[in-house]
Amino acid sequence: MFKTYDDLKEFIQENEIKMIDFKIVTISGKWNHLSIPASRLSEKVFTDGIGFDGSSYGYAVIESSDMVFIPDLTTAFVDPYCEVPTVSMIANIYEINKKFDRFEGDPRYIAEKAEKFLKESNIADEFIVGPEYEFYVFDHISYNVDSNRQAVDIDCFEAHWNTSAENNQGYKVRFQGGYHAGLPYDSTNDLRSDMCLRLEEMGVPVKYHHHEVGSAAQVEIEVELGEMLKMADATLLAKYVIKNTAMLHGKTATFMPKPIYGEAGSGMHVHMLLKKDGHNIFFDENGYSGLSKEAMFFIGGVLKHAPSLLAFTNPSTNSYKRLVPGFEAPVSICFATSNRSSVIRIPGYAKNPEKKRFEFRSSDGTCNPYLAFSALLMAGIDGIINKIDPVKEEYGPYDVNIYDLSEEEKKKIKGLPKSLDEALDALKGDYGYLLRGGVFTKQFIDSWINYKYNKELVKINPVPTPMEFQMY
Ligand code: GLU
Ligand code: MG
Ligand code: MG
Repeated sequence: MFKTYDDLKEFIQENEIKMIDFKIVTISGKWNHLSIPASRLSEKVFTDGIGFDGSSYGYAVIESSDMVFIPDLTTAFVDPYCEVPTVSMIANIYEINKKFDRFEGDPRYIAEKAEKFLKESNIADEFIVGPEYEFYVFDHISYNVDSNRQAVDIDCFEAHWNTSAENNQGYKVRFQGGYHAGLPYDSTNDLRSDMCLRLEEMGVPVKYHHHEVGSAAQVEIEVELGEMLKMADATLLAKYVIKNTAMLHGKTATFMPKPIYGEAGSGMHVHMLLKKDGHNIFFDENGYSGLSKEAMFFIGGVLKHAPSLLAFTNPSTNSYKRLVPGFEAPVSICFATSNRSSVIRIPGYAKNPEKKRFEFRSSDGTCNPYLAFSALLMAGIDGIINKIDPVKEEYGPYDVNIYDLSEEEKKKIKGLPKSLDEALDALKGDYGYLLRGGVFTKQFIDSWINYKYNKELVKINPVPTPMEFQMY
């Protein structure tokens, strides 16, 4: 939106902006924020930054927790969710040392380094991605902030079951029959239109929105493809818009991969292609499904590293409750055309050479998009550098429904990790491809694994589930 500090200043004056808000990306890919009065804004903020406690973000150890963020002017937008006129912008994270270095673990920096490495490798100039946002919409229940936070999730479930009680069949979406459901069944249509128009206004072009398979208002918004770092920013912005707009309509939106047992899960599929000199290098009319050699090697790299990649693309315990057979979520490490059961699907409809691409279907909305996109790119680059041929490696193509293959045939296909522990173990044994060009550092990978073990698994693993209660 702005190129220079003066542009911003002028906008603030002309539009009577009262507050400037900074969005700081946490390790798990959420926006925290901090605001200052617009009257106090000086150019110094963009050189000296603002100090904060990095340990509360999962970044720094308590002993050396002081960090600094410096906002990125080019990401500024008028924040429609603040009543006081506010301009928001995303910030980059720096370490406090003599030179004031970029912090190696800042997800935005990792994405910048990945884009730079791609250019320097001479393979391509741009990594173009198109994430798809699937999510559920529940009734918003106000709750007492002092009460146990778990109550929120339980309230959401109750809201769902109450509104779909047996005696209420009127315009209820049929179980697992919600795909492209029409009005009046599609009760969140206007909510999604509102979300999409806001996104468009904020510079994120929307492809379309629709109801998804899940009957309890599972929906999807797809945006147009764009460059990786920009799309990671857009992903956090989209979640911000989706959640805040839902809130204004008295609803909650959740990107949890499997909020309801027995209903479809929500993925965040990522479409991918590489551009060189402005042209898509993934197209070759003579290649399998119209894909070039580079595209096939890229697929080979992603499939080879899939188990460790999932530590970034599917980084929650809940992620693995979605990756089960029967719900159009992938379970196998293979590729195919128009096949939703394989982890890589080549859309059959992308006939335009400039749009020829494939989608990675495993990733979900609990990922940090900067880390997930960067890891996918590094896996693809590894495939291209090492000419990993996915056909020779027997990753496919499987142009059949994998769920329906005989047990004998299924055995030939390697499965995706079945738990977060498994994915983290895979990452421990396979991270070399991420270190190229200093994109990820060993220290960052270690801290990611530690964070997942010590902040999440340690809390979640010991909790008995309702099903365990029933069985034992
Ligand atoms: N909801 C499915 C998933 O969990 C995907 C459905 C689709 O292909 O859009 O990935
Ligand atoms: Mg979908
Ligand atoms: Mg898709």
